Amino acid sequence: MSDCLFCKIAEGEIPTELILEQENIVAFRDINPQAPTHILIIPRKHISTLNDLKADDAELIGELILAAKELAEKEGIAESGYRTGFNCNADAGQTVWHVHLHLMGGRKFNWPPG
Ligand code: AMP
Ligand code: ZN
Repeated sequence: MSDCLFCKIAEGEIPTELILEQENIVAFRDINPQAPTHILIIPRKHISTLNDLKADDAELIGELILAAKELAEKEGIAESGYRTGFNCNADAGQTVWHVHLHLMGGRKFNWPPG
């Protein structure tokens, strides 16, 4: 866990502007944004992938999604629309092994994603 980039961001070990700080979750802007708004919302607790979720984590994951809704409103993309997503493992393109919810908006997205 000590080597985890997102644990370090959540703990303040890597200076990153947190745009949301709650007891169990934090959010910050993606360093390589793929849309005008691209925010990552993460649990403070280290969970590597969605495959590692336990039943006890249900409320925590719900908090991530509620935060996405609130941040979308703040970013002014709630009405125009936004994309949320968890990438799990290689085929989905996961590159950071700490669960994170992408919140993207401010442009039109294709479906299905590439
Ligand atoms: P994923 O491909 O779903 O694992 O997403 C990981 C995301 O983390 C990518 O969109 C990266 O651009 C982003 N990322 C990597 N390092 C940082 C960082 N130091 N600060 C903010 N975002 C980052
Ligand atoms: Zn972590």
